[in-house]
Amino acid sequence: MEMLLKSIFDEIKPMLGQGKVADYIPALATVNPYQFGIAVCDIHGNITHIGDANVPFSIQSISKVFNLVLAINHYGESMWDRVGCEPSGLPFNSLVQLEYEQGIPRNPFINAGALVVSDMNESRFASPHIGMRDFVKRLSCNDEIIANRDVSDSEFEFRARNAAMAYLMKAYNNFENEVDDVLHSYFSNCAIEMSCVDLARATNFLANRGYSVCANEQVLTPSQNRQVNALLATSGMYDEAGSFAFKVGLPGKSGVGGGIIAVVPGRFSICVFSPALNTVGNSQLGVAALTSLSKRISWSVY
Ligand code: GLU
Repeated sequence: MEMLLKSIFDEIKPMLGQGKVADYIPALATVNPYQFGIAVCDIHGNITHIGDANVPFSIQSISKVFNLVLAINHYGESMWDRVGCEPSGLPFNSLVQLEYEQGIPRNPFINAGALVVSDMNESRFASPHIGMRDFVKRLSCNDEIIANRDVSDSEFEFRARNAAMAYLMKAYNNFENEVDDVLHSYFSNCAIEMSCVDLARATNFLANRGYSVCANEQVLTPSQNRQVNALLATSGMYDEAGSFAFKVGLPGKSGVGGGIIAVVPGRFSICVFSPALNTVGNSQLGVAALTSLSKRISWSVY
């Protein structure tokens, strides 16, 4: 596996630096674009990694996966009354669909959906961001994980668009808590910093019928786990979910920090990190690396 990962790195190395790091907040705009790391974790917890796989980065939208899992644990099937499971076909921070859909976001991985899920977790936990931090620490066996306060403060300062979505959902009675309280929790979750190794471990339950070897915990039932993987496959990659399914063929979730997690059901969890993004906000080299990996060893689930 290490040889394979090295040869993929050699193949895509000439592309290093292509694309553009996220610059919608100053705290992310200064990240070095010339970084690349990948970690693969098998369902027994064995990790293979290369490059910058131990460098912590801002997990951003990958936090939406953990956020969703925490809500499913508590609300079960009833949570799907408040958020849908259809791909959106629109940018992740789009407001337009919300009006058509009467305040019910299309899926939990667009921002509106993640905000409703955060609202559910806000009602459930006394300190939702601590609940989330404890959860990812357990799943990755890493007690040192932190959230970057500069990033979350900066996101909060530029919160207008996310706040607009939350208020629109409140107008449709699909938002229970104070908007700013939920935004604080949501941004704090996005600002969590984890490495490829941490994330490959933390998402390993998705490859293992819902069971986390690291935490020694059944995180989701096998059928809930299948549902989450289906949502990842259809809605996890912003506007590129279709071509990611076409080229890579694995459930995956990206974040604007440059991370992408992907799941090979029954076998592996993968995390790749390279901060320069393509035009839809996915890691340029991350998509290239996963495409090459999948092509070489036919991991596509289709
Ligand atoms: N924190 C970002 C936002 O809510 C999430 C960005 C992402 O999609 O990774 O705008």
